[in-house]
Amino acid sequence: MINTVAVLGAGQMGSGIAHVFALTGHSVLLYDVSESQLARALAVIQQNMERQAKKGDIPQSLIPESLARITTTREMISLAPADFCVEAVTEHEPLKLEIFAKLDSIAEPSAILASNTSSIPITKIASATGRPHQVVGMHFMNPVPVMKLVEVIRGHATSEETFQTVIGLAAKLGKEVAVSQDYPGFIVNRVLIPMINEAIFALYEGVASAEDIDRGMKLGTNQPMGPLTLADFIGLDTVLAIANVLYDGFKDPKYRPCPLLVKMVNAGYLGRKSGRGFYSY
Ligand code: NAD
Repeated sequence: MINTVAVLGAGQMGSGIAHVFALTGHSVLLYDVSESQLARALAVIQQNMERQAKKGDIPQSLIPESLARITTTREMISLAPADFCVEAVTEHEPLKLEIFAKLDSIAEPSAILASNTSSIPITKIASATGRPHQVVGMHFMNPVPVMKLVEVIRGHATSEETFQTVIGLAAKLGKEVAVSQDYPGFIVNRVLIPMINEAIFALYEGVASAEDIDRGMKLGTNQPMGPLTLADFIGLDTVLAIANVLYDGFKDPKYRPCPLLVKMVNAGYLGRKSGRGFYSY
């Protein structure tokens, strides 16, 4: 029985993950190194719950009790009571390995440790712990409260029991599951990131303007937004990190990140979250 959930990282994804767990009756311990990110996460969660209530998706009365279930902390040791941990810190492999090793020493031996990584091998993350059979990928989509899908990724050592617990938990959150084996990019990013990267190449080569590329793909392929708008939404640093994982993981030049993407990340143009990417916000 999963009652208390630890969420590590209070950025775009961590705040959304905390939101859906709190709304479905779980106690949430939300951890981040940054005090300002924690404060921002609480404000965003409240704002998004209000929006859901206004749309009639949830009763207004659910909001105060859901918010009261979230406790923020900057101390990882406070996550010890969690039955289930979901990590959603920055997409940087050495950081994730360090966090999982530390979390492994803090969490109850029975606790399951999940990662929301977009692209880092679950098997590798699991190997940083002494409980690889209790490590699994639980890859939420952005924005978490809105998007129906969760990809569940089985690491090489993930046990059937761990896998089934995560499947049950996803159902409790009202999510649909797509199950993937542990290969670079899993399912969604394996297909999505090369498409975004190709859109960036089209911009880089002067094929068309950002607006035209997005209009073409949005109206021509019936997507809710164009690939460059989506890249800004995901975060260009995250897009680049995933592109590099595909490139390194498959050793295939077809996955090479566009130099324009690299340059924009170097310039600090990270998309929506930094106020500037392919568009200004
Ligand atoms: P983000 O930059 O919005 O948030 C990352 C958070 O991690 C920040 O709040 C940061 O303060 C925190 N952090 C950094 N180092 C930390 C540490 N040592 N301990 C605790 N917290 C730390 O990033 P995001 O978009 O929320 O992405 C988080 C994860 O979710 C990544 O693995 C990413 O690949 C994955 N993901 C992202 C998306 C997306 O669309 N953005 C979708 C699915 C999965």
